Amino acid sequence: MNYSSNVIAEFLAKLTGVEWTFVSLREEVAGNASQKLLALRPKLVELINNAKSISGEMGGKGVKSISLWMEDGKVLRIALDEGGVIVVKHEFKADSEVARAISTLLSPKVIKCSNCGLDLKLAYNRCTSCLSILPFITDMCPFCGLDLAVKKCPSCNVSVYSDGSRVPLLFKKSYARFRRIEV
Ligand SMILES: [Zn+2]
Ligand SMILES: [Zn+2]
Repeated sequence: MNYSSNVIAEFLAKLTGVEWTFVSLREEVAGNASQKLLALRPKLVELINNAKSISGEMGGKGVKSISLWMEDGKVLRIALDEGGVIVVKHEFKADSEVARAISTLLSPKVIKCSNCGLDLKLAYNRCTSCLSILPFITDMCPFCGLDLAVKKCPSCNVSVYSDGSRVPLLFKKSYARFRRIEV
C-alpha cells in the first residue's frame, strides 16, 4: 500500500523533535518545509545516490537513507524511494525513530492491530514518562529510554506489541506482579 506524500508528511510532522518535513513522491509534494527545498530536490537525489555508491565502494550494503548534521545541532534525514525524496529536519535524539518510521511507511509490509485492524504504521504512541509523541512501532523512547514494547492500541485499547500482535494475558499478569514487587 502506497501512502500519499501528504499523509507521510503530516504523520512525520507530528512526531516529537521534528521541525519540518518535505515529501515528494510520485510527483506530489507535501510538507511544511521551505519552498527553497523544491529547487534543491535534484541535488538531494544526487547527494543520496552518491552516498549509495560510496557505501557500495566501501563494501557496505546500499543505503536508502542518510542523515546529515546541521550547523544548529539538528539533523537532516534524507531518504530516497524510486526517484522520490523525503527530507525531515529534527533533533538528533529523534533520528533513529524518524529513519525507522520512514522505512516502515515506504515498505509494503502491513502492520495492523490484530484486534481491531487499525493501521499501526500511521498510529502514534505517547511515552508515558516524558510524554513524547512517537511512532506506534517504536519499542523504546529515544528521549528518555522507557521500554515501549507493549502498549495500548489507540483505537481499541487492547495491549499489543509493535507488530500489532496481542500480548498474552498471562504475560500482563506476571508483569503487573513484577512491577508491584519492584515498587
Ligand atoms: Zn486495536
Ligand atoms: Zn520518553
